[in-house]
Amino acid sequence: MANNSTNRKAILVTPEVCIGCRACQVACKSWNELPGIKTKNNGTYQNPPDLATAAYNIIKYSEVPSQDNPVRWLFVSRRCMHCEDAGCMKICPAPGALYRTKEGAVAFDRDKCVACKLCVNACPFDVPRYDAEGKVTKCHLCFDRIGEGMLPACVKTCPTGALRYGDRDELISTARAEGFGTIYGEKDLGGLGSIYAFKEEPNLYGMKENPTIPSSVIFWHTYLKPLSLIGLGGVVAAAAIHYMAVGPHKDEEV
Ligand code: SF4
Ligand code: SF4
Ligand code: SF4
Repeated sequence: MANNSTNRKAILVTPEVCIGCRACQVACKSWNELPGIKTKNNGTYQNPPDLATAAYNIIKYSEVPSQDNPVRWLFVSRRCMHCEDAGCMKICPAPGALYRTKEGAVAFDRDKCVACKLCVNACPFDVPRYDAEGKVTKCHLCFDRIGEGMLPACVKTCPTGALRYGDRDELISTARAEGFGTIYGEKDLGGLGSIYAFKEEPNLYGMKENPTIPSSVIFWHTYLKPLSLIGLGGVVAAAAIHYMAVGPHKDEEV
């Protein structure tokens, strides 16, 4: 369901001023009481390698060619994009498991999640992860902080201003006034709630071009999701949608 709030908030990410300190990762873990993750050194400072059950945000590190330096490091925050047109919410058969806050965030209610894992197939950004019971986990834009007038934990901690939180329209105007010609996510999927300010091409930072919700998921969502709302039950409807849209469930590492 689209968010029609005129009060839409957002996180503005400015990778150009990110120093890769990962304080945002630590702050998120601290606020959400997420445990550490055992990882292996795979030749990069990026750690963990991707989003995980206990990692709602990560800093992606990449090296790109540079004329001025032997190595040019790029850092970019990867997290839920809080899409206006949110594939995860479209496909979810369990009412209230994924919901829109008044600030425009896409949050989750673990108790209402039926562990169907459909939302991962519907997310254009491969964001949702699952806990040991198969329940969804992801960034929720610190709904429990912003609802009380506080900044998201990651934003509060960022020492350089690479993460800013506020009124979405004002953040976009500010970024433009600062000379950032591209605001990634300004229009995509109805407008993202995590937007990124760039002076260079977003794909240099690995940003996905033209993100879209898989059409097969939308097709089956359109015809089968209503079944869950007329009494078939979220779990049964989810199993049917999943089978027809993406095939049988497979066990996966979380
Ligand atoms: S990025 Fe994925 S999980 Fe986040 S709101 Fe969009 S569709 Fe949902
Ligand atoms: S907004 Fe909150 S939940 Fe989301 S990445 Fe930042 S600290 Fe974590
Ligand atoms: S806290 Fe800020 S500067 Fe440090 S890695 Fe996160 S976004 Fe970058």
